[in-house]
Amino acid sequence: MKEQLDGLLQAALKEIDGAGNEEALQELRIKYLGKKGELTAVMKGLGSLSATERPVVGQMANAVKDQLESRLEEKLTQVRDANKREKLQRERLDVTLPGRRLPYGSKHPITLVIEEISEIFAGLGFQVAEGPEVELDFYNFEALNFPKDHPARDMQDTFFVDDSILLRTHTSPVQVRTMLKHAPPVRIISPGTVYRCDSDATHSPMFHQIEGFMVDTGVTFGDLKGVLTTFLTQYFGKGIGVRLRPSFFPFTEPSAEVDIACVMCRGKGCRVCKQSGWLEILGAGMIDPEVYRHVGYDPETISGFAFGMGIERVAMLKYGIGDLRLFFDNDVRFLQQF
Ligand SMILES: [Zn+2]
Repeated sequence: MKEQLDGLLQAALKEIDGAGNEEALQELRIKYLGKKGELTAVMKGLGSLSATERPVVGQMANAVKDQLESRLEEKLTQVRDANKREKLQRERLDVTLPGRRLPYGSKHPITLVIEEISEIFAGLGFQVAEGPEVELDFYNFEALNFPKDHPARDMQDTFFVDDSILLRTHTSPVQVRTMLKHAPPVRIISPGTVYRCDSDATHSPMFHQIEGFMVDTGVTFGDLKGVLTTFLTQYFGKGIGVRLRPSFFPFTEPSAEVDIACVMCRGKGCRVCKQSGWLEILGAGMIDPEVYRHVGYDPETISGFAFGMGIERVAMLKYGIGDLRLFFDNDVRFLQQF
């Protein structure tokens, strides 16, 4: 009996030492100490021993049981510690690594251009005003001297909500809205989204304009040229050539198209300027007395000028962008360059 217990103990200890994980140890506990375990079987056999042998063997069996239990416990702790160490090794934090930065978004080139232009005009004493994109026919056309059935309306075909409500075709309605609310002097710049029934490589049904106007006593065409030349020089750089050509707009008289010397070739002639050396950049003129009549200003005592430009066009020239549609494709590879 004693040898049997010794053999069992040695075999069990060897197996416990060889066990590599918690599951294996659990199985060994059942194998030796469980209800149907090997040691349990020996202890059940104690009853068949003589009264003198029984306490001696019983004591030995208990000692074996204690030894196995403590060895199992010890090994279990070892296995758990080893697991923990291995896990820590695998997941070790390197606190000296630089943090992961969240990528920043950036402003859309159209927004950038609007901000830059507004800033220059703020320096010249202009305030920013905004108006609705869904506009009444009166503000968009009528008050700006585009009577119903006037052919100039055809150049600005737009999207109508009904007969008298439409998506504004230019930012000029803000002129009328501002002058109706404020007496002169006014100096306003008004950036915003406008709409026309146009769509090709150089036209988008939705685009952006910036409108500016100044009304006061004694404002002359010389002031118009001075303000625009100052702006164009600040925006495109010193020494940029500026020229004015006669033109027509229903709400200004006289009217002019304003050109700058080509920013690509500096006036020498290239593909962008179609060899002319000049690029059309904005439209301008002295506000037509007919417009003052609609807003209750006295054309005999006050005068002023207005100008407007397409922001996409300015952005294309400033950044050398070849296709208008890139602004609205939302291709991140394009947008992240700004
Ligand atoms: Zn050129």
